[in-house]
Amino acid sequence: MKEFVLKVAQRGFAAGKAFPVGAADEKEDVPGGYAAGTPEEELHRFDEAVRVFGEELAGAAAAADEDSAAIFKAEKVLLEDEWYAGAVRQLIRAEGLDAPAAVRKTGTDLARELRASENAYLQQRSDDVKGVTDRLLALLRGGKERALTAPSILAAEELSPAQLSGMDVSLIRGIVTAKGGPLSHVSILAGNLGIPYVYGSREAAAAACACSRLILAGDRLILDPEEEMYAQALRRQEELAMRKGKRAADRLGSRTRVCASISGAVDTEALRTSGADGVGLCRTEFLFPGHTAAPSEEEQTKVYRAIAEAMGERETVFRTMDLGADKNPGWLALPEEKNPALGCRGVRVSLKERDFFKTQLRAMLRAAVSGNLKIMIPMVTSVWEVEAVRACLEECAKELAEAGTAYRMPSLGIMVETPAAALTAEQLAEKADFFSIGTNDLTQYTLALDREAQGLEAYDAPCYEVVLKLVCMTAEAGRRKHIPTAVCGELAGSPAAVKRLIAAGIEALSVPLPKLAETRRLVRKAEEELRQFPDQRREVF
Ligand code: PEP
Ligand code: MG
Repeated sequence: MKEFVLKVAQRGFAAGKAFPVGAADEKEDVPGGYAAGTPEEELHRFDEAVRVFGEELAGAAAAADEDSAAIFKAEKVLLEDEWYAGAVRQLIRAEGLDAPAAVRKTGTDLARELRASENAYLQQRSDDVKGVTDRLLALLRGGKERALTAPSILAAEELSPAQLSGMDVSLIRGIVTAKGGPLSHVSILAGNLGIPYVYGSREAAAAACACSRLILAGDRLILDPEEEMYAQALRRQEELAMRKGKRAADRLGSRTRVCASISGAVDTEALRTSGADGVGLCRTEFLFPGHTAAPSEEEQTKVYRAIAEAMGERETVFRTMDLGADKNPGWLALPEEKNPALGCRGVRVSLKERDFFKTQLRAMLRAAVSGNLKIMIPMVTSVWEVEAVRACLEECAKELAEAGTAYRMPSLGIMVETPAAALTAEQLAEKADFFSIGTNDLTQYTLALDREAQGLEAYDAPCYEVVLKLVCMTAEAGRRKHIPTAVCGELAGSPAAVKRLIAAGIEALSVPLPKLAETRRLVRKAEEELRQFPDQRREVF
């Protein structure tokens, strides 16, 4: 018996047979080797391997939950992308390499290129390239990985989702790798499947590959435990699985995402581990406390990038600065107004102060390379505003391209927080990629009730029917035009509203971090009730 303490990507308890998953390069030494054919035959073998692997990935995606399916689909895109497959075919045709050699060379070159990037997101994509390469090599060298036949703990130098796609994941009890990490795709898949995963020691991974039984308990990995200890661990694992099965049944069918709203300087580590399904609203005007001057493009890029990286694959919605009215950090000379809430605020300020706005957009485009960043515009009232913002975005993209700066064009959504936007949601949905309803302002403008007014307590209500009606109209318009609708105002976490928002078809709720757990509980309860009494769905209007 031997024991290691490792880093934890997914915490949990597991016991099972050790199942070593070999790196493809080791298979090169298999006796009998690879009998290369003509370039035509090699091209055909490569195409066949791509076809089989593509089917495996499609099958894995179809059987997986939404998040995991996205990972398998991304691997399929990479597999079939000319960037990868075209390079392999070119090496076979022009340089006469056999299919495995061409795959290995392409995979190694592309992975090296991505690893050399300074961008953490691209660096992680190098793992995908390696995973796809390993799986193709395994297929070219004689078929599948040795099949999993019993509940096992996988042990490997490194693992990829591609390797998992060829396995029966219901038999995977745990994962141990030398390389890896909590942000890797394997970790995300393991998290979604409830599989504990430890990593970080070459010695431990190699020893795990060579032993026959393993116990994984939190950060402890026990190799070849004594008989009695192993039997006890198997019993404990069974007990935990029964409890987990019950919890899973409780959660069955839960679809509404519960996201975090950010309204100040961010602790990215707390955000990353918060369990939020994404960031539904990042109020960027509050991200730079203490700045007496407007933050520069570099400063903004750095902060947005850190948040996007912390969230990884999860959607991160950055709202462009909503300045004016009650929010003016003093970076712009805004006009004195009698009714500032009805004056120059939100997107109106942005479109007047173009240079300031474009600085922010460029920072967002740059940070978008590092994660699943989306841009959202506040205080929209008209279609032309969305068109004008898109035009600004295009200009910024052109400027970055000309300067040779890396960027990615993210989706562009709008806040629906004025009655004008809710009432013209169908037209706006033609121009926007998603909606998020700001119920704070929507309430203020619909009821002509200043958010900050004093002495009007008589008008307080936990959930105004008229606002809910506008929410329903907006969600319905989004559905008709195939764009998702979220809610990011205070109503998203209100016990009086959650069930009705879900019934109206709202796909995500965004609440401050401290409200996350409570809102998730409300969502589960509401979804359960709506499953039991589906007629309630029709009662929201
Ligand atoms: C809202 O209006 O509901 C909203 C989320 O935006 P803010 O509170 O920042 O105005
Ligand atoms: Mg608002």
